[in-house]
Amino acid sequence: MRICVLASGSKGNATYIEGDNTRILIDAGISCSEIENRLMQIGVNPSLINSILITHEHSDHINGLSKFAVKYNTKVYTHRDTWLTMDSKMSKLKENQKIDIYGNDFCINELNISCFDLDHDAAHCLGYSVSCRDSKVSIATDLGHTTPEIIRHLMDSSLIVFESNHDIQTLLHNPNYPLRLKNRILSNNGHLSNDATSDAVAQMLGYGVRAVILAHLSEQNNTPQKALQTMQQRLLQEGADWAKEIYLDVGKQHKIGNIYKIKE
Ligand SMILES: [Zn+2]
Ligand SMILES: [Zn+2]
Repeated sequence: MRICVLASGSKGNATYIEGDNTRILIDAGISCSEIENRLMQIGVNPSLINSILITHEHSDHINGLSKFAVKYNTKVYTHRDTWLTMDSKMSKLKENQKIDIYGNDFCINELNISCFDLDHDAAHCLGYSVSCRDSKVSIATDLGHTTPEIIRHLMDSSLIVFESNHDIQTLLHNPNYPLRLKNRILSNNGHLSNDATSDAVAQMLGYGVRAVILAHLSEQNNTPQKALQTMQQRLLQEGADWAKEIYLDVGKQHKIGNIYKIKE
């Protein structure tokens, strides 16, 4: 498998995942032309995208969706609650492009997908695990807290794209954020802090995670350095070996991230 975070953050999210013969996106939250542009940068013709899996209806996850899906006749998968909420924005899609996710597991050609619920202030926010033969990658962003079920889905993945949204102190002291917004971000339905993400990853050690791409970083209330440092320190607390063994990276807002090849 290959995976590349094309964009990550409150201005738009999209992640590319490729199996043996099937190419998908998780979210399409940057403009259609920017998705095309970033796919070309990793050598992928946009017309080869088979399907788009949507996590939830917030605009930073669906900005380019309708235009891209109509242009390339791409199938779009998301939870029924999310379809109901974003229906008016998706009127140009053909009915057979809109696929409801009913159960937790389904296949797109050789890719096995499982989804899991995330608590977020959306109609129904989903995380996804994508497996191809013995390789597995997972993505979980836009969640206020973790649960044992979320940890279980993530912990045997080789690579996880995992939200590390804000540094709590930076957020609390940010004069540009009204209290209501701070409370929303910090709530159980908001976004994960660097500390919460580090604690969750500490629970996954030893089960298979080899790389963590910290994602959906706030440009106002976090920096890549802070997110990485918090995670590195947490791994060191768990043991010096973990800090060496787990590869850390950060998903970027304004340019594509590194391309990862997951070997079986
Ligand atoms: Zn959201
Ligand atoms: Zn978001």
